[in-house]
Amino acid sequence: MKRKTVIGKKIAAHRARASKANVRARKAKPAARRSNANAKAAGTNPERVREILQKLDEAYPNVTCALVHESAFQLLIATILSAQCTDETVNRVTKDLFAKYRTPRDFALASPAELEKEIRPTGFFRNKTKSIMGAGKKIAEEFGGEVPRTMEELLQIPGVARKTANVVLGTAYGIAVGVVVDTHVIRLSNRLDITRNSDPKKIEQDLMQVIPREKWILFSHQLIWHGRKICQARKPKCAQCNLDPLCYAKDKTV
Ligand code: SF4
Repeated sequence: MKRKTVIGKKIAAHRARASKANVRARKAKPAARRSNANAKAAGTNPERVREILQKLDEAYPNVTCALVHESAFQLLIATILSAQCTDETVNRVTKDLFAKYRTPRDFALASPAELEKEIRPTGFFRNKTKSIMGAGKKIAEEFGGEVPRTMEELLQIPGVARKTANVVLGTAYGIAVGVVVDTHVIRLSNRLDITRNSDPKKIEQDLMQVIPREKWILFSHQLIWHGRKICQARKPKCAQCNLDPLCYAKDKTV
């Protein structure tokens, strides 16, 4: 009986130690993951990056934003509408939208119920209505009806985060302040091992370090087009990809 009690105490002590160790391990895991994610991607040596850029130039020498627009303001509205939506749908919607609402003030004074109906096909139409009406109001009242040309000012506009600001600055004004990081750029820059981050802000910082500034605007368009046409999310068409010799992504299909 006494022996059983001693053994029982030993088992209980062992279990307590194991439980504490598990807690410690669970706590330690995220830190390990973080340090791994922050490690510099192995594929960023300048020679390899130069080759990637050259291949992209060969495949997509003159690509630009697929959102149809005639002004920086239209591009800003179209980019807000493009969240979680295809560019084709946005272009279909903006064809009538831009004919009806011609200035930032027109959007600011729109009927929310009508506008919601008009942009409904783009999804998340209630939030997008608030954003584009707010953007119209801010630009009309505080920026003299002109879309501003600095990142700092653009980020004050409702519905505008770094991605939209980079699209407008790069495509409408030719100003390279950062790199557009959308879903395609996130996926491709990871597959190409130019970054090991999943957070768009960190990815942008990584890309800004390894891509020459004069390439920032074109590079993001090239990745977006490549992501749409070839390096698709579920089944990349690696057999048709000119980056294949440089790519060692785990989910390659050749
Ligand atoms: S080889 Fe495949 S995975 Fe790599 S970039 Fe090309 S399409 Fe994407």
